[in-house]
Amino acid sequence: MISKKIQKALQGSSAIRAMFVEGKEMAARFGAEHVYDFSLGNPATPAPSAVNDAMRDILREADERGAVGSMELHGYMENAGYEAVRRAIADNLNKRFGTDFDAHNITMTVGAAGGMNIIFKTILNPGDEVIAFAPFFGEYRGYADNFDAVLITVAPDKETFQPDLSDFANKITENTRAVIVNTPNNPTGVIYKPETMRRIAAILEDKQKEYGTDIYLISDEPYRELVYDGNQVDFLTKYYKNTIVGYSFSKSLSLPGERIGYVAVPNEAADAEDLIRGIEISNRTLGFVNAPSLIQKAVARCLEEQTDVAFYDENRRMLYEELTKLGFTCIKPEGAFYLWMKSPVENEEAFVNEGKKYHILMVKGTAFGCPGFVRLAYCVSHETVKNALPAFAKLAAAYGLRKE
Ligand code: PLP
Repeated sequence: MISKKIQKALQGSSAIRAMFVEGKEMAARFGAEHVYDFSLGNPATPAPSAVNDAMRDILREADERGAVGSMELHGYMENAGYEAVRRAIADNLNKRFGTDFDAHNITMTVGAAGGMNIIFKTILNPGDEVIAFAPFFGEYRGYADNFDAVLITVAPDKETFQPDLSDFANKITENTRAVIVNTPNNPTGVIYKPETMRRIAAILEDKQKEYGTDIYLISDEPYRELVYDGNQVDFLTKYYKNTIVGYSFSKSLSLPGERIGYVAVPNEAADAEDLIRGIEISNRTLGFVNAPSLIQKAVARCLEEQTDVAFYDENRRMLYEELTKLGFTCIKPEGAFYLWMKSPVENEEAFVNEGKKYHILMVKGTAFGCPGFVRLAYCVSHETVKNALPAFAKLAAAYGLRKE
């Protein structure tokens, strides 16, 4: 008999993953070129060639060093990861954002998902509250549940998709242990404005004083470098000292299957040394032990590399312009690779099902805690976007938005 928790998890199993499976089935039935799968954030751009080159070089260098090289590359290591890798990341962050990290502030993680889980394990007691701004990455629910914490959600402003900060202030209680910020945002593509971040920080400072607690701001940032039109994403430690950064190379270097990211804890965070040691231990006790070794070394050599943002930008422009012309209401993405679109009918699940009739796969907003909207992941080939446009025209016509 499986546990009650997992029984519950199976019932609410990820809508995105379910759609991924459905997309594969539809592709087998109708041919991949006739299915427009915008469901999963799986990057269509290849990893920069420097990544594979680095992996080959690292393997060759290990071979040249014989048994010592093999042990160094394939053996156990510190739970936080290779010191040289962590130092390279700290130096890179210091150069880009004026921080003062050294290797000990960085823990290498099994992607952002691994990072979030080891942070949660380190700071949460059962019953603690974690606040997420809707719409949010649906997996946060499962991560909070792993540690018997309660996920509390804050409503967005449905025009701008910046968070509603009066709702935020009202939701903070003496049990609030953490607040998650994800900007550029999955699923909206919105970047939180500096003013939003300043106000979030001010509210948190006030509430910490009011309750005599520490509230950590967790910056979940897999999309930091995926920004358009010259937009910038601030490094959030500059607003609020109790910030913990969780980064991932899954999207920035198109490496989601490699499972690599890091957590950065600044020295000025409350109980920073305990946090850092706790995060390292959690990496071990949750069974990750350490982030995969070869890809750790490879990303450390590719910190100046970037995925092809122009590729996503072309999809972004094409999809936003064409869908808007067809009469759909879309939020213009400023970053990440998602388009957030209003469902023409209140029940967006019905709209998602209607889309499937035209072989368009979208994810319902309810999966992100925000009904009435859908998400399109445009990290697909240009052809998929182009070929999908006539299908979207039919879908628009089905709702009387604009005639074909
Ligand atoms: N956080 C957000 C907001 C995401 O969109 C994702 C992946 O899509 C993750 C975390 C998990 O990323 P990773 O593959 O690095 O675990």
